[in-house]
Amino acid sequence: MNDTPNRTPLTADVERHLLDSVGVAPAEASPSDLLQAVSLAAREQLSRRWVASTAADRHAKARRVVYLSMEFLMGRTLGNALAALGLEGPAADAAQAHARTLEDLQAHEPDAALGNGGLGRLAACFLDSMAALGLPSFGYGIRYEFGMFAQSIQGGRQVEHPDPWLENGTPWEFPRPDVAWPVRFGGWVEHPQGPGGPAVWHPAGTVNAKAYDMVVPSHHDERVSTLRLWRAAAPAHIDLTAFNSGDYARAAEFKNQFENISWVLYPNDSTPAGRELRLRQEYFFTSASLQDVLARHMAEHGRLDNLHEAVAIHLNDTHPAIGVAELMRLLLDEHALPWARAWAITQATFSYTNHTLMPEALETWPVGLIQSVLPRHLEIVYRINHEFLLQAARHRPGDNAFLQRLSLIDESGERRMRMAHLSIVGSHKINGVSALHSQLLVNTIFSDFAAIWPERFTNMTNGVTPRRWLAQANPALAALLDESIGTAWRRDLDRLADLAPLADDAAFRERFGAIKRANKARLAARLQRELGVPLDPDSLFDVQVKRIHEYKRQLLNVLHVVTRYLAIIAEPQRSWVPRTVLFAGKAASSYVAAKTIIRLIHDVASVVNHDLRVAGRLAVAFVPNYGVSVAEALMPAADLSEQISTAGTEASGTGNMKLALNGALTIGTDDGANIEIREAVGDDNIFIFGLRTPEVEARRREGYRPGQIAAAHPTLQQVLDAIGGGLFSPDEPGRYRGLVDSLLQVDHYLLLADYADYVATQQRVDALFTDAAAWQAKAVRNVAGMGPFSSDRTIAQYAREVWRVQRGG
Ligand SMILES: *Cc1c(COP(=O)(O)O)cnc(C)c1O
Repeated sequence: MNDTPNRTPLTADVERHLLDSVGVAPAEASPSDLLQAVSLAAREQLSRRWVASTAADRHAKARRVVYLSMEFLMGRTLGNALAALGLEGPAADAAQAHARTLEDLQAHEPDAALGNGGLGRLAACFLDSMAALGLPSFGYGIRYEFGMFAQSIQGGRQVEHPDPWLENGTPWEFPRPDVAWPVRFGGWVEHPQGPGGPAVWHPAGTVNAKAYDMVVPSHHDERVSTLRLWRAAAPAHIDLTAFNSGDYARAAEFKNQFENISWVLYPNDSTPAGRELRLRQEYFFTSASLQDVLARHMAEHGRLDNLHEAVAIHLNDTHPAIGVAELMRLLLDEHALPWARAWAITQATFSYTNHTLMPEALETWPVGLIQSVLPRHLEIVYRINHEFLLQAARHRPGDNAFLQRLSLIDESGERRMRMAHLSIVGSHKINGVSALHSQLLVNTIFSDFAAIWPERFTNMTNGVTPRRWLAQANPALAALLDESIGTAWRRDLDRLADLAPLADDAAFRERFGAIKRANKARLAARLQRELGVPLDPDSLFDVQVKRIHEYKRQLLNVLHVVTRYLAIIAEPQRSWVPRTVLFAGKAASSYVAAKTIIRLIHDVASVVNHDLRVAGRLAVAFVPNYGVSVAEALMPAADLSEQISTAGTEASGTGNMKLALNGALTIGTDDGANIEIREAVGDDNIFIFGLRTPEVEARRREGYRPGQIAAAHPTLQQVLDAIGGGLFSPDEPGRYRGLVDSLLQVDHYLLLADYADYVATQQRVDALFTDAAAWQAKAVRNVAGMGPFSSDRTIAQYAREVWRVQRGG
């Protein structure tokens, strides 16, 4: 320690870690050395809190939530950890002592991108809220060696690169070499006591699941929660024979066969080998997690017949659904419980969240594949199904079609196991993720189940954590809120309602507007640097950021951009409201239509951005590699949030919440959580357009004719002709002919039906934007209305109504 004025204990810790842990002279530390040292200094403080929380829960034998999720889209950790510890200031000082800023260091931290999009990010927000509410909780998932692919754009096309986020290690995980569970696959099953009794499974192979823990700090107290991720390791003895004979290549290949289970998020599922690997992943992490839960329970309670009183296990979508059969197997075969008791415990322990209504997205597995990978589980599912269908038959005697629809096995073609059905039958509570979605579940895809068990179905509207999505992502707005309404919003987001009166306060609006302007300028500078596209921070920033998918209708947005482009050219003398349209999002690597949309966005951008006739009035940019960190930069800079899915397709959306929380106005359809956002912010503060869910259904029923819509609408026809005729792809005029033809002939997501209303609504957006005071007032009212969309509210509701868990000591 020397006597530099802003030396703090943290600075001393950082210097110590540079010397003792990183192994570098403090004067020579690079930004990534410093990142490492600051992270280690924060980590050691969290570690102490963690040990204390875990010991308290163990001592209290606390009832715990176990959240099983194939994906956790965590993003970066350092900023969150520092905020939770109240060390942001001292960490900035420590960086400054080396002539760096904290942002310089953080830019070197890779995102933990162990997820695709909304579902994985939801799991991450939920962990934050479970910690904030002090719930004794564990998240469980897979420690993928490679996360979500990194996206770059070459020649307007998406190129996928591996994401080796663990290449240089991570300071945020704690390996637990003592915690390893065998996970078995294949082989055959023996029934020494006859068909109904406990079975002996003779697997063909066994892989070890080894635990790596990540800390999940609370921002409000000293409690810490855990995300436990499993890595697949070949059993140590396995390669010895090959090694002894000097055949290292064969030994390595053998090892890989086991270890590839935790290599990569979403193996290519267009091949049988890729699909089988995915099934193995699902079973791998579910089995390891359940074995871990049972061992902890036995250590605390010494018996399993009260398992459901001590733990609530949640299935985040159907990826861990095989857990229903796995828990049964563990209770029956390894702990000798009778079937009826085991089944009662299982149903009382599990709960399940559905995330999609789209039939093609509902997970099923060929029975033949389950037979070869998980033979014992297949037997168990058959028996669950048999007893369930007997029970169901009593509800509607003689109705065979009813039973066929309910069955856990789809017999209509190649026999397949329906994982959503297994999840429902094995759970005591089932929920959707927005009011509309939960209602549609009960009325459509799960109506037969709801007829039998209406009391099991409920709604838990999604939320987002205000710590990451407001406090961290938008520090200037957070500071303005602290000053205006106090700091309590950070743990009680309903307090944002106190902002509402300030919407009418001109001085406040001015400060609020200045913060948005500064966020836009910062983003513009970054995109100038990274993409070479100049953007005008005074233009309206119109933002659509999310996975690229046909149902999310980025293409409808493009139709509007082209409409605007052609209109400006046709009437150059009119005063146009300047607009910058920003896109970001990844397309699944095998999703051809989504990749074509990315290419079209780039082709349109390149024509529009180089056309002097629209300069200063319209610009388009695609921000590559959408992920949590990119989202944190984009959300605070948005004026307009595009949430334009076909009504009835977006289960909830959470991007819509993050953007409104940062003061963007929504233009959206009557879909998912948009409906609840509209109720919360008021009809006058949101732009809703387009067909509603029942109207979408009616249009499809009547026989939808998109070609007729285009024929009756000259502007739309002109836009389609421009795209289909090659205006944006002069080097290959036919590039988008197929895309346009499919819109004219099929248009499964009804873009053309919603086009006219969408374009008219965009004109209302323009009109409002010219009145800065009116726009800012509505933006303030959006922030004020976002209280209900905190994931703290969602998790409190799960804790009360689904999990029945309480804050730990
Ligand atoms: C919030 C979020 C999503 C979900 O966005 P939607 O607009 O709800 O689809 C996806 N990816 C990332 C990185 C996010 O932060």
